[in-house]
Amino acid sequence: AYVPTDRVSELQSEGAYAVLAAAQALEREGRDIVHLEIGQPGFPTPSHVARAGIDAIDAGKTKYSSPDGIPTLKESIARYVSRTRGLDDDAVSPDEVVVGPGAKPGLFFPALAVISPGDEVMYPDPGFPTYKAMIQVAGGVPVPVPLRADGASFDMDAFRAKMSPKTKLVVLNSPANPTGGVMPAEDVEAVAAAAKENDAWVLSDEIYSRLVYGDGEDDTGNATASSVFNIPGMRDRTILVDGFSKTYCMTGWRLGWAVMPAALAKKVELLLVHSVGCTATFTQEAGIAALEGPQDGVLEMVDEYRRRRDFVVGALNEIPGVECPTPAGAFYAFPDVSAFGKSSKEIADLLLAEGGVAVLPGTDFGANGEGKIRLSYVGDMETLREGCARIAATLGKLE
Ligand code: PLP
Repeated sequence: AYVPTDRVSELQSEGAYAVLAAAQALEREGRDIVHLEIGQPGFPTPSHVARAGIDAIDAGKTKYSSPDGIPTLKESIARYVSRTRGLDDDAVSPDEVVVGPGAKPGLFFPALAVISPGDEVMYPDPGFPTYKAMIQVAGGVPVPVPLRADGASFDMDAFRAKMSPKTKLVVLNSPANPTGGVMPAEDVEAVAAAAKENDAWVLSDEIYSRLVYGDGEDDTGNATASSVFNIPGMRDRTILVDGFSKTYCMTGWRLGWAVMPAALAKKVELLLVHSVGCTATFTQEAGIAALEGPQDGVLEMVDEYRRRRDFVVGALNEIPGVECPTPAGAFYAFPDVSAFGKSSKEIADLLLAEGGVAVLPGTDFGANGEGKIRLSYVGDMETLREGCARIAATLGKLE
């Protein structure tokens, strides 16, 4: 009989898959379900990007590429990262860039290359489930750090209490999944200072970097979130992860990247050689078109998400017992529903079974997500209006 190894015995899936499956089972029974659980853009991949992928297939670009990415794509990424993080155009070298099939390999493989068994790794709770999974597989000790009430940042007192010379790596995610929070610059600076003091690495998952609704602009005209990446002295201990999935609506293309010191990039390249081999070649060609082509579509998309965010947050706050902070980024709302005296899992189950609206329990993202639910506002306004009406009607019966 199969006996799981220590490495995989504690692994759990992403909750979103389970809720989606439950929602689809209800749909097969003829129920009409509003999907607010899915964390992927509702917009299509921009047509010039899709066209570049198709053209690449037609041109026979269907063979292996170098394991860490096509050199021209790595150059584009190096320029793009420099530009979007407020640095000189040549601040990032292509030697520091590793391309992978999605942003997830940019989390997982550097984690394997940096964490030794027994090392402590701090990560946000609630936070993206892959963080805990990669720490477990690497044999590290997961150290969840609670977020403050509005979900924008760590509870900095808790962060300071948990940070020590035993900390090997700190995971940041701003804008955040599941809270939509954007970390204030002073907290990013405090984390950077603590990382230097304790000789720790920082893995900054910036997959939502272009989905920011606040002030400040990079030279793509986009509002920006603060990043450890451009704090002086941080480059040699920072792994920056970003990609195409959210910014260019390319979740199924599987394309992302990580930027890290060249010596670490070499080891991550070896992990890619021996696991995925390389990323699909035509997908990488589409990625070049995404980064080098017009960016107006991204700005329009951000404007549309802002409109949807404002609607959803407003509608949720009108429901007695629901409190929803206004998230400054990503495409998630993370309202507090603890006033109903039920667990977040019970609320999510009830919303699906009785209300016909799929959301995720906050506890899918860690114990500290208790009392919250996560909604994605990637759907169109009609979907969001119907979803919020169903939530209001279902929770209204609990009062
Ligand atoms: N990081 C965060 C915080 C995410 O929410 C996601 C996707 O949901 C990813 C990484 C993974 O991105 P990709 O699909 O490019 O692997």
